[in-house]
Amino acid sequence: MTRYIFITGGVASSLGKGIASAALGALLQARGYSVKLRKLDPYLNVDPGTMSPFQHGEVFVTEDGTETDLDLGHYERFTDVNSSVEDNITTGQIYNKVIERERKGDYLGGTVQIIPHVTDQIKEFVLNNNKGVDFCLCEIGGTVGDIEGLPFFEAIRQLGNELPDNQTCFVHLTLVPYIAAAEEIKTKPTQHSVKELRSIGIQPDVLLCRSEKRLDQSDIKKIAVFCNVSEKSVIQATDVKTIYEIPKVYMQNGFDTQVLASLNIKRPKKINLRKWNKVVNSLNNPKGQVNIGVIGKYVDLKDAYKSLSEALVHGGIANDTNVKIHWIDSEKIKTKKNIRLLKSLSGILIPGGFGKRGSEGKIFAINYARINKIPFFGICFGMQLAVIEAARNLAKIDNANSSELSNTKNPVVGLMTEWEKNDKKFQRDSNSDYGGTMRLGSYPAVLNKNSLSYKIYKTKNINERHRHRYEVNINYKEKLEKIGMNFAGISPDGLLPEIIEIKNHPWFIGVQFHPELKSRPFNPHPLFSSFINASIKESKKK
Ligand code: GLN
Repeated sequence: MTRYIFITGGVASSLGKGIASAALGALLQARGYSVKLRKLDPYLNVDPGTMSPFQHGEVFVTEDGTETDLDLGHYERFTDVNSSVEDNITTGQIYNKVIERERKGDYLGGTVQIIPHVTDQIKEFVLNNNKGVDFCLCEIGGTVGDIEGLPFFEAIRQLGNELPDNQTCFVHLTLVPYIAAAEEIKTKPTQHSVKELRSIGIQPDVLLCRSEKRLDQSDIKKIAVFCNVSEKSVIQATDVKTIYEIPKVYMQNGFDTQVLASLNIKRPKKINLRKWNKVVNSLNNPKGQVNIGVIGKYVDLKDAYKSLSEALVHGGIANDTNVKIHWIDSEKIKTKKNIRLLKSLSGILIPGGFGKRGSEGKIFAINYARINKIPFFGICFGMQLAVIEAARNLAKIDNANSSELSNTKNPVVGLMTEWEKNDKKFQRDSNSDYGGTMRLGSYPAVLNKNSLSYKIYKTKNINERHRHRYEVNINYKEKLEKIGMNFAGISPDGLLPEIIEIKNHPWFIGVQFHPELKSRPFNPHPLFSSFINASIKESKKK
């Protein structure tokens, strides 16, 4: 029997509902239960794939190639359960399905309405394919009271009635602000948020209260009375130093036991937090620090590179070292004048990206890392630009560029028009739709035994997740090999370069995929562990 835990939010956005859901999933797992996490996003976009990283943060890509909300990244990092196309839904997708059914005549001439047709579609999504899962955690995006969220709240309210007793639990995450001038904790916003939730028929079972300061018993009592819950159901969620401390802190504050009690599981299985304790211990007791520069276009919004920054932290955990990330705007390093921004770095990373703006700055930084033998890690766009840099400056190929960036005669990176996955053929041209037309999800690559990458992965066959339209052009392979580029990984059909390296350099690797998506705090990705290790060696020289 699967039990359902619905996580809603109130008072303000950005309270960390995704991390709270992920941490609850990790705690239930640590008690030996199986979990699945799902995200219900009320916006109208069909998927976040075409949304600006500035507005929405990173797009997280699953194994099966679905472009999803970044919260799914938190779920995977905390529980190591791979998400799929079934785990993220948006209003856009729900409406698409309802309208498709209406056109087919599936509703037999009935008037199609939000209740029951849209809500039924949402419920179907929640209940689908949960066989053998002990707990399905469903996070509702946005905050209670948002117009577009209403059908989702209505659907989970209905599920609360329709599913058997003790099979659903409603968790509400709120903010309890501290007013410095009055030196007081304020419970009123939480009261109002719960009032709003109750007005649509949902009585929360557990309140998770984010606050800067610890709540005292009188605050807890007040929240309990006004929100119609027991005092034990008011859980403190005070700020912590690292997000990986959250499972333990929540456990200490009784979050998981209270959720389980509300589901009538009075004697839960014993908890084992050993792997989390190890992670937190390493983060809190680093042996040293290393300075890594991430040079990108979206550096003002850290959420745009969420999985990447976490993977760097994981690389630090593997080396018991604190990774200090320097976010550098690629538009600021176009000229030699700004080279000082790169001088203090022991490792340079160019992440995934799109479009011309800032690309020359990134190429400048790659050139600096190559010549000065600073560990360099290029991811997706970062790899493509590393190939352009070497083609221009080492192989002397005139106007070498990507066809994404110019109409060059020498597209060392070009648009991929045809490819295969699982015996299915995919096609695209420059007029194709923008959404959902990239090479997405997990693809295999074969490593060259004579490469640094093979030493790092310790295996010949790897699978990594992709998200891109362009590819390094295999027709330039020979010319690039002549100047010392090693095609260290390639697609099994030998056509798509997956990893490039520069020989005679301590650590210069470009990968066409996104290894950061598969890194976990308790199982850091080998490329990140190795990159941080090489950067630590570089820092000792400085
Ligand atoms: N813009 C490049 C492409 O579409 C790289 C994409 C990326 O870095 N994710 O191929």
